[in-house]
Amino acid sequence: MRYVIHYDVAALILTVIILIHFYHKKSIRSSQTYVFIGLIWTLLLTDIIDVASVLADDPRIPLAVAYGVNAVYLIAFNMLPFWCYLYLFILTDRSGGRWTAVQKTVLFLPVSVTILMILTSPFTKLVFYYDSNWVYYHGAGFPVLCMITGIYMIASMVLTIKSRTALTGWQRTAVYFYLIAACMGAVVQNMFPNVLVMQFVAALTVLLLYMSLENPDDDEEKYLGIYNRSGFDKMIAAAVGKQDEFHVVVVTITNFPAIREALGAEFSRILTKQVVSNLKTELKPLELYYLTEGKLAVIVDEKGGNLDRTVAAIREELDEPVVTGGMNLQLETVMIQLDYPEDVKTVEDIMDSIDYSANIPYESNDGEVIRAGGEILAGKRRESKILQIMKNALANGTFQVYYQPIYSTSQEKFHSAEALIRLYDNELGFISPEEFIPMAEKNGMILKIGEFVFRTVCRMMARERIWEKGIDYIEINLSVVQCMQEDICEMLYGIMDEYDIPYSCINLEVTETTIAKDVLWDTMERMTVGGVTFSLDDYGTGYSNLTNVIKYPFHIVKLDKSMVWYAMENETAMRALRHTVAMLQDLDMCIVAEGVETKEQKDILQEMGCEYLQGYYFSKPVPEKEFLEKMKIA
Ligand code: C2E
Ligand code: MG
Ligand code: MG
Repeated sequence: MRYVIHYDVAALILTVIILIHFYHKKSIRSSQTYVFIGLIWTLLLTDIIDVASVLADDPRIPLAVAYGVNAVYLIAFNMLPFWCYLYLFILTDRSGGRWTAVQKTVLFLPVSVTILMILTSPFTKLVFYYDSNWVYYHGAGFPVLCMITGIYMIASMVLTIKSRTALTGWQRTAVYFYLIAACMGAVVQNMFPNVLVMQFVAALTVLLLYMSLENPDDDEEKYLGIYNRSGFDKMIAAAVGKQDEFHVVVVTITNFPAIREALGAEFSRILTKQVVSNLKTELKPLELYYLTEGKLAVIVDEKGGNLDRTVAAIREELDEPVVTGGMNLQLETVMIQLDYPEDVKTVEDIMDSIDYSANIPYESNDGEVIRAGGEILAGKRRESKILQIMKNALANGTFQVYYQPIYSTSQEKFHSAEALIRLYDNELGFISPEEFIPMAEKNGMILKIGEFVFRTVCRMMARERIWEKGIDYIEINLSVVQCMQEDICEMLYGIMDEYDIPYSCINLEVTETTIAKDVLWDTMERMTVGGVTFSLDDYGTGYSNLTNVIKYPFHIVKLDKSMVWYAMENETAMRALRHTVAMLQDLDMCIVAEGVETKEQKDILQEMGCEYLQGYYFSKPVPEKEFLEKMKIA
């Protein structure tokens, strides 16, 4: 039979081009890459054998050689679907390479059977054999081979459909193309046995896989010439898969945001490049990774005290001022070390620790490397748990609103109150708003929480008509994130109207952060028109810029408890407090002093001229029922 080998030759050329491109680019040797390497070499082998066997027409070669070559070809050819399946399996695997015995058996048993059947064929004639005229025949076991190949292909299809979210669109396309084209190729091959198309189908699939699955460009930070977060993730997954000990050192340039702010984005890019190139001289290739702005990571393996040497070298390099763009800059850095498997046991642990390490209070660091795995993870786990508790609390309405009455020294009675949210969990007990509010602000949950608090307060006020019973208004804390919402006023007015409460019964507390973010003007203008008043909360912490008090229409200034407490133990602070109160009085501000815990504090503040006092001396924040009883209006 005269074979048409054009497709085979094209496949061979294509395979060689992909191979050259692949090896030309440095790429991370993850388990995925190893499978890809297996796949492409297998393909090359089948290409070569296919072309060579046709070219060597009338091959009166020794029978042993014919058996050998055919066996290699059949093994290689039948392994292609296996490689494909393994590739997908690794891509969609979420266990970090910890496969169960069942998974391993399902993966490797069929391909092992295939190889065994082919290798024994010269003796058993199971898969193929030559008759006495050197004519090639398929043996009785050949259909089993086809079946196994089919099983891997069907399994690939099922896995792709089942785990579609774990794969990109391109990746799915590659798999579907392979499965459809292989079936069509098999039909063509059957109709025209002399036209060899299967290799070409395989080569095209590998090309698609290479473009979609490999895509080494995604892993590189081109400008810096090192791998990025995606490359880092793959490298970590590969290292965890190997289960050898290794360390991750995360370097954070803590003054990077300040440098960026002062000297601009372009300069900070050049600076990063300089830092990277300085560090590169100390590190081996594939040790340094760029995670995000001002954050680099180093992966160090355990061999030969590598870690101490590397850490010392990085420290030395970072302690030197960086000379770049005509500037001489001293970086402030923090290094955090994670040890695998001692501190962190899975890929998720490592990623969580790195992300969470941003929360570490850097000021307390004295230049040493922080061994942080355990605590960081505990912190991260607590954060995840609290996020879940918040989600449940929102869904089940189990957040609670407590009220802390505020005492009027002139009226000698409680005249208003602050609404404070409470979150209780059976395992963690009461979780402080100081802890969960910032988390809720970060992930946006604060909007729903804020609405819940506002609605709960309005509902209570409407039911009790507390403005008729001596409580002039309720103070409600407003997060900066809420103020950033365009429809915040509609939401607040909507709820007040729904419960039909007078707008003047609501006082909104904001902090200076809200002013700093420049999101307050509009909200404040639109709310004060209706009669809602505003408090400037936590005055005396942060910048306490007097301009803010003058510029914005605040009704109340709340002196932070730290300012009150400090005044009680420090004469200068006492004088500062006295002057602050006098000045605010002069500006016709209502003053609320927070954190009043003793009679002595009450007397001093009252004598100073603070009209309103809030603190444990009068009452802790209490549940609604207790609050209403206290007000004697229940
Ligand atoms: P804040 O608005 O400054 O609230 C005053 C905090 O001081 C409350 O803490 C209150 O319980 C506490 N406090 C009052 N008097 C005393 C005292 O005499 N001694 C001591 N040691 N503490 C006193 P809490 O309830 O833990 O709230 C902490 C912060 O969480 C609040 O500070 C506020 O910024 C935020 N927060 C609370 N509830 C909400 C809310 O519904 N929405 C928003 N956005 N933030 C809230
Ligand atoms: Mg407050
Ligand atoms: Mg406050």
